[in-house]
Amino acid sequence: MRIPSTESPALCVDLHAHSTASDGALTPAALVERAAIQGVQQLALTDHDTVAGLPEAARAAAASGVELVPGVEVSTLWKGREIHVLGLGVGSHPLLDQGLRWQQEQRWQRAGRIAERLTRCGLPGAMDTMSSAHGQAPSRSHFAAWLVEQGAARDSAQVFKRYLGRHGRAWVYPTWVSLETAVGWIHRAGGWAVIAHPFAYRMTGAWLRRLCAAFVQAGGDAVEVATGRATPAQVRDAVGLALRHDLLASCGSDFHRPDSGVELGCLPALPHSVTPVWRALGLRQAARGG
Ligand code: AMP
Ligand code: MN
Ligand code: MN
Ligand code: MN
Repeated sequence: MRIPSTESPALCVDLHAHSTASDGALTPAALVERAAIQGVQQLALTDHDTVAGLPEAARAAAASGVELVPGVEVSTLWKGREIHVLGLGVGSHPLLDQGLRWQQEQRWQRAGRIAERLTRCGLPGAMDTMSSAHGQAPSRSHFAAWLVEQGAARDSAQVFKRYLGRHGRAWVYPTWVSLETAVGWIHRAGGWAVIAHPFAYRMTGAWLRRLCAAFVQAGGDAVEVATGRATPAQVRDAVGLALRHDLLASCGSDFHRPDSGVELGCLPALPHSVTPVWRALGLRQAARGG
């Protein structure tokens, strides 16, 4: 898919960020306000398996002049691996709503099993904090914060290594939806499906190419090329994936909290060789004269 380039290079776009509706530290309104201060003109709120933060974010966006892209980050399984698929520009659709409710149920069930394992490790009580504090989308990040509070590890990186990661003592194999089904939900809701942070999966180049091929086969639209933690070499490799598989390119910080080393809108520029997904989203048509 190729759409002619017209937008201003100064356009500041961030199409991947989290709020307290999932595992972010800022409320949807505070996130939008921070984006405005950072000079972000277009922001996608993409909470894990939920769109619950979108109405509040939309109200804040209307007040601050930030253009909100309604989004979601769906956890999926592909060949036994966890792959995150962003839906950008999603509207409300019963299929997506029902799908996200199912994902939430999986999250609660997995949370219960993680808590059981932690109890067996001598760390009881995790579920009490989960149930009271996280009405939406219990995430391993919430467990990580609790475990650091309990002194079970120094920081969340260590918690993931010791307990929550694939080789950790409280690892539970997830039961997410398939890649294909998630793309279907996103499309039915009018959105664009994007492979999030391709280099976070620690796959070889050959596996990443297989993933992109399967994603294209499933109808997927784009791959994240510029991310908050991407190195120049990773940006270059992601451009290669986008061009090879004829995918649009997205850019998003994956912002979760202040002072984490990742800031809203602070992203490497998208190279001119790729087509930005936001052009396909049809944003700022008037401003761009298109
Ligand atoms: P979940 O969606 O419940 O599986 O939780 C995954 C979330 O945990 C990710 O979105 C990150 O925010 C966070 N996360 C994953 N791996 C790590 C890690 N190694 N260190 C710190 N946070 C992590
Ligand atoms: Mn997260
Ligand atoms: Mn993710
Ligand atoms: Mn994310």
